[in-house]
Amino acid sequence: MLNRVLDRTAPWDLVIIGGGATGVGCAVDAASRGYEVLLLEQSDFGKGTSSRSTKLVHGGVRYLEQGNITLVIEALRERGLLRQNAPHLVTDLAFVVPSYDWWESPFYGVGLKVYDLLAGKYGFGPSRLLSREETLARLPTVKPEGLRGGIVYYDGQFDDARLLINLAETAADQGAIILNYVPVTGLTKGVDGFVNGVEAHDAETGRPLWAGARVVINATGPFSDAVRRLADPAVAPMISPSQGIHLVLDRSFLPGNSAIMVPHTSDRRVMFAIPWNFHTLVGTTDTPVAEPSLEPHPLPEEIDFILDTAGRYLHKAPNRADVLSVFVGIRPLVSSGHVGSSAAISRDHTIHIDRSGLLSIAGGKWTTYRRMAEDCIDQAATLAGLPEKQAVTAHLNIHGFHRHAGKFENLASYGSDSVVIQDLIRREPSLGEALHPALIYCAAEVVWATRVEMARTVEDALARRTRALFLNAQAASAVAPRVAALMARELRRDEAWQSQQVKAFQELARNYQLQ
Ligand SMILES: Cc1cc2nc3c(=O)[nH]c(=O)nc-3n(C[C@H](O)[C@H](O)[C@H](O)COP(=O)(O)OP(=O)(O)OC[C@H]3O[C@@H](n4cnc5c(N)ncnc54)[C@H](O)[C@@H]3O)c2cc1C
Repeated sequence: MLNRVLDRTAPWDLVIIGGGATGVGCAVDAASRGYEVLLLEQSDFGKGTSSRSTKLVHGGVRYLEQGNITLVIEALRERGLLRQNAPHLVTDLAFVVPSYDWWESPFYGVGLKVYDLLAGKYGFGPSRLLSREETLARLPTVKPEGLRGGIVYYDGQFDDARLLINLAETAADQGAIILNYVPVTGLTKGVDGFVNGVEAHDAETGRPLWAGARVVINATGPFSDAVRRLADPAVAPMISPSQGIHLVLDRSFLPGNSAIMVPHTSDRRVMFAIPWNFHTLVGTTDTPVAEPSLEPHPLPEEIDFILDTAGRYLHKAPNRADVLSVFVGIRPLVSSGHVGSSAAISRDHTIHIDRSGLLSIAGGKWTTYRRMAEDCIDQAATLAGLPEKQAVTAHLNIHGFHRHAGKFENLASYGSDSVVIQDLIRREPSLGEALHPALIYCAAEVVWATRVEMARTVEDALARRTRALFLNAQAASAVAPRVAALMARELRRDEAWQSQQVKAFQELARNYQLQ
């Protein structure tokens, strides 16, 4: 793919900057309409916010409370379409709202009935009131003192980084050229003053490249303003970054199959405790930050807040020593002042065209990435004067599509690719060995990630092709040498490369540990 970019002199229909949910979603949409697409990501696909979400495909109960019905209906429809197009990655999850006050069950019960109604044919299952006994049966570790009952409702859960990799593969299957480790460092303009291409380089070799474009899409999430400043250093910022952290605990904190949803924390936020990959995921926070970074750090008060809130609802309160991993993501929120001056298509995401003709898309959420991409490519095609073509993604299967992937057990999230990974193991049985007793991953997954899924570093394999770093940072650190050796064999790298990779990964993994 890199050679095809280096060899090409003709402009692409669209060049997309940013390989998160928004950028990769746009690449899938545009390529499947038949446009010529190039996507450049500065680091690895999903290195930004898109691997650091709560992993919910949801309509957003919170928006319902704010009366934003249109937004909820849109997100619920997208939730249904995603389950239809990627059944190997989206599963239904029961959420229980435990009630300790007499008014909570009727109050939230009515709201959640409205949620069911709005989902219509895209519903995931009807909500209903639970008795105290039923609540305790679903949530055996919830605090029993003062518990009156609860309400159960259904939403979707997915693995964000895996969906992103599958979307990148879908984009490539549809003819898009997608490259990781190619940062965009400049935007070029034609004589008319409009952006007509991007300057970038291959981070592995330092080799520079230029790619001409009929339209450039800036899908860099929290980094959108930095890219806009490449075209015009004086642009007013549109992003107000805010970080959210999650803590990962072992499964004993939430041993059942239901999640806990707390509609109102002490800072008036929603908090979730969710069973995820045989662990418990608890989050999140909302803390404004001055500057976005690719590896944001959790603040001590954020950690305390989550531990405190979890301790209020769980029989056994978790403490710092129980935290197996902590990860932080930055929300690319569009500042409210900006929305009024831009072509906002939905209140949830913003599409903005600068005077230079650079098109930026930001905001929204993972659940609505497909709809965001459809809106964005409609606008981009008009701006670039491309022939009109309808979006086809509402009914486009996502790479790995498989209706009964559960039968592949630990490999289920690879969907139809599981059979090829199983084949790797059949031919070389040692690849079937688990990487670590605390992790569900095996060596074949590392080989697969390197050979087929463009993993270039140990971090790519352990943070985003598998989720080892996010589930258990210490165990991930311990397996880094083995992963480096497996990758070196595939990429024909020497021992110096392996030591450098192990050192870099173990340093990074320390940021995910509290001890
Ligand atoms: C804590 C938290 C929890 C969330 N939970 C949920 C949830 O449960 N469900 C849900 O639907 N949504 C959730 N979201 C929202 C969702 O995760 C985000 O809306 C989405 O991931 C944003 O994707 P993005 O592609 O816009 O940004 P990003 O994923 O950050 O991608 C931007 C990419 O651009 C790249 N980039 C930047 N500059 C350059 C450059 N110069 N050249 C090349 N590449 C560049 C970056 O490296 C990055 O990979 C959550 C968000 C947060 C923060």
